[in-house]
Amino acid sequence: MRVLMIAPPGAGKGTQGALIAAHFKVPHIATGDLLRAHVARHTHLGQAVKQYLERGELVPDEIVLDMVRLAVIAAKDAGQGYVLDGIPRNMAQARATYTIVHELGMTANVALHLIAEDQELVRRLVARASLEGRADDTESVIRRRLTLYKEVTHPILAWYAERGILLSVDAMPPAEQVGQEILGALEAMRPLVDGVPDRLSSLSAQRRS
Ligand code: AMP
Repeated sequence: MRVLMIAPPGAGKGTQGALIAAHFKVPHIATGDLLRAHVARHTHLGQAVKQYLERGELVPDEIVLDMVRLAVIAAKDAGQGYVLDGIPRNMAQARATYTIVHELGMTANVALHLIAEDQELVRRLVARASLEGRADDTESVIRRRLTLYKEVTHPILAWYAERGILLSVDAMPPAEQVGQEILGALEAMRPLVDGVPDRLSSLSAQRRS
């Protein structure tokens, strides 16, 4: 199973991404986690991206795409599945991610879209701030991240809808309920996904786009 997740901050990408990855026994590739790990380890890359994360801005596309390419190559070796969480964030990343996974014969089966209202997202992020102390969970940075989501991330959903792989799920209920809904929907697709070689599914997706 190969899933990429598109959701506003606070909708539960991390929680649901981890659940899907554990259920299908595939790697959970979370770009935000990978970037935060670099910042925590004070790597060269961490120093380059720290300010973007603190301000809630998107880090340059080449940086995340290089990271994701390596992670997807590792996922291919590990058994062909993945959950991509946090990428793509804009149309350029959507196209570049498609090129990367297509070259590896690993195009996504599902683009999972989590839907939640702004007020609930802000409530969850403010609650998370006191638990996790993330530098980007302050009110002004949260607002910036929500604006960026609406302006540059949300528009890419139409592209996945055209390719026929968009699955939208209501993320307002408690996480456990949302998780059951997602796993139920993905399990229902499993026979189709497992039965169709990547080459054919990407050809039909191309024909549709
Ligand atoms: P997340 O954990 O997905 O909320 O991401 C936290 C932060 O990491 C974002 O606000 C961005 O600064 C950065 N980030 C994560 N993924 C990407 C991406 N695909 N493109 C650019 N920046 C990203």
